[in-house]
Amino acid sequence: MVASTSIKGKRPSVVVLGGGYGGLTTAKALDDIADVTLVDPSDAFLHNVASWRALVQPDWVDRIFMPLNQLLRHGRFLRDRAVEVEGRKVTLASGAELEPDYLVLATGSSYPFPAKAAEADQHRAKAALQGAHEALQKAQRCLIVGAGPAGLELAGEIKHFMPEKTITVVDVSPDILSGPFDQALRDELKRQLDELGVRLVLGSPLRELPEAAPGSLAPVEVTTEAGETVTADIWFRAFGVRPATGYVRGALANARDARGYLSVDERLQVKGVDGVYALGDISSADRDTALAAGQQAEVLAANIRALITGEGEQLAYQPGPPLIAVPLGPQAGATQLPDGVTGAEATASIKGESMLIEMYSVHFNAQDR
Ligand SMILES: Cc1cc2nc3c(=O)[nH]c(=O)nc-3n(C[C@H](O)[C@H](O)[C@H](O)COP(=O)(O)OP(=O)(O)OC[C@H]3O[C@@H](n4cnc5c(N)ncnc54)[C@H](O)[C@@H]3O)c2cc1C
Repeated sequence: MVASTSIKGKRPSVVVLGGGYGGLTTAKALDDIADVTLVDPSDAFLHNVASWRALVQPDWVDRIFMPLNQLLRHGRFLRDRAVEVEGRKVTLASGAELEPDYLVLATGSSYPFPAKAAEADQHRAKAALQGAHEALQKAQRCLIVGAGPAGLELAGEIKHFMPEKTITVVDVSPDILSGPFDQALRDELKRQLDELGVRLVLGSPLRELPEAAPGSLAPVEVTTEAGETVTADIWFRAFGVRPATGYVRGALANARDARGYLSVDERLQVKGVDGVYALGDISSADRDTALAAGQQAEVLAANIRALITGEGEQLAYQPGPPLIAVPLGPQAGATQLPDGVTGAEATASIKGESMLIEMYSVHFNAQDR
């Protein structure tokens, strides 16, 4: 077992790998009680929930990148990448090694550009996003592959800010937004997409994906297995979440499934590995939302705090009911809440107008205190 109390005069150490939604929340919540080290190869947290808004409105680009060295007041930020983790021992790309009392794996997932950045340096990442904006401006016809929440949101953002573009969304599924959602949510979104003039081509796989890089100006032609051809001047790939867990070794590797997710218990400890926890997009718990990553981080931070102080119960993470807000631009969209589906006005105020930016930017103020 990991020591449950601190050695007198020395704060227990916590290393958090990954400064995304789950990692930043965990690191911030333990900053006052532990010696926290946050590690990320990027110098900025990317609030990718608002990436599409920044794609269509470049004045958002600076706002969605938040400097990780301004997150913690007491702890330190190391700009580095974990290349091997075995038990609680971490080897970084620089060659440095860390072996904390508590290790939190929060390395999240990759997702096709421009929703997530391909560049670790925020200046390069911003320039790439600006480049995609310029390419989109020059394009007349846009193809979006994937009718999940990300693809639908992108269609809505483009239609709101660049209404003259024609947009086609294709998906292998016979309906939009697969997942545990009410049909009323899909029906309302389809009604609004139809009003916006977004064309949906559903129910048949593409023979192959376009060769051009997503987000670049290039002639695109795709054909579905059912024989429908779509041509465009630019395309975006709105599917393909890939968990980033290639660094695990030993018992941690045994807890990793074929798709790369780490199996955790209800306290988010990696099964069979004392003192090592995993949350967010890499964990077998509820995943693939920033909301779940944040809620898991709160439970985990409370549990680590209780172990450090010796006070309080260990909490179990319980996934909540299906909850999703799908804005179609700042004023439209639909949302599934625990008590039912709501439309454009509520969606605008829950997410569409602010894109939840203040919920995260508020944490990056360490220099003010
Ligand atoms: C377009 C889009 C819109 C979305 N909108 C919403 C939404 O509205 N609401 C919602 O709840 N969810 C949304 N999501 C999903 C949400 O973004 C993810 O679920 C969330 O990013 C997961 O958070 P995380 O902390 O697990 O990991 P991430 O946010 O992916 O962060 C992982 C961090 O780990 C770092 N890292 C990676 N490898 C290493 C390594 N080896 N060593 C150290 N650090 C490493 C990365 O640089 C990154 O900073 C959206 C996703 C997309 C793509």
